[in-house]
Amino acid sequence: MTSSLEQARCLVYDVEHEYIARDQASVRAALTEHKRTAVAAGDQAQAKEIWCLETLLNAQEHYLSAFQAMRAQEFPAAWTSLVHAENALHFLRGHLPDDVGRSAFIAQQVENFQTLFPYRIFTSPELVIGYHTCSVCGAVVRLRTPCGHEPGEIYDGEMCHRKAHDVQLVGVALVRNPVMKTNVISTAEHPYDFPMVAKVITHLSGPFAPWHIEWNEMRLPHSLFAHIRTREPCPCNSRLEYGQCCLNRLGVRQEEGKVTIGAGIAVPPWSFYRSPLRHANDPV
Ligand SMILES: [Zn+2]
Ligand SMILES: [Zn+2]
Repeated sequence: MTSSLEQARCLVYDVEHEYIARDQASVRAALTEHKRTAVAAGDQAQAKEIWCLETLLNAQEHYLSAFQAMRAQEFPAAWTSLVHAENALHFLRGHLPDDVGRSAFIAQQVENFQTLFPYRIFTSPELVIGYHTCSVCGAVVRLRTPCGHEPGEIYDGEMCHRKAHDVQLVGVALVRNPVMKTNVISTAEHPYDFPMVAKVITHLSGPFAPWHIEWNEMRLPHSLFAHIRTREPCPCNSRLEYGQCCLNRLGVRQEEGKVTIGAGIAVPPWSFYRSPLRHANDPV
């Protein structure tokens, strides 16, 4: 049964109250059907609105999957879903007003959760691309020969993007700010631990329970790092040796994250510590 566009819109916009009951597949099918009708009628505004609803639905579903995965202690899967939610929300930017369908809330929570994960270094493929084509018209696009379609704009209810052809992988770099945050490095010998995510997730009543974390830099006493030798990398993530970095300072540079759950009351007042995401000399 195809629901009306108005019904589908309500199910996506009021995600906070509808997400348990809503049948994602039938909402998606209804949107596909309505978009086909709008495109056939040449109604670009309607087709674009439906693309927004589809993309918002994707963001919501990825966020809800991430929440479920964190509850189930499946943290690597949760990370992937958080990144997909972030990407979907990124596509929506400029096309939707703020916080429609809790988009601003979800964006904030995705960011909050990501700060609790231990991933610091990612892989980034170094590619040589032969040429690009436009996803809308298929024309070969070069700097001096634009096709008239703007990447990121919506045409016939689809977002215009550039397709890469004759792609060669020439190397892989290790980076801190990757284009693809899903490219985490993991090895069997050094599995990641997720104590911060595990702790926060058990104290949340559901995916729309508000919580907040504030990170501030501070220095922790050297006694906590007594197991690290002076020639080993400094725990502040600076890429320098401990002996040439924080060991000469008052303490080891770390970040403290203060968690609050609910309406600004820290219950209990937790603090987490992590090595800084950026070195002081990194470009911002
Ligand atoms: Zn084009
Ligand atoms: Zn240091």
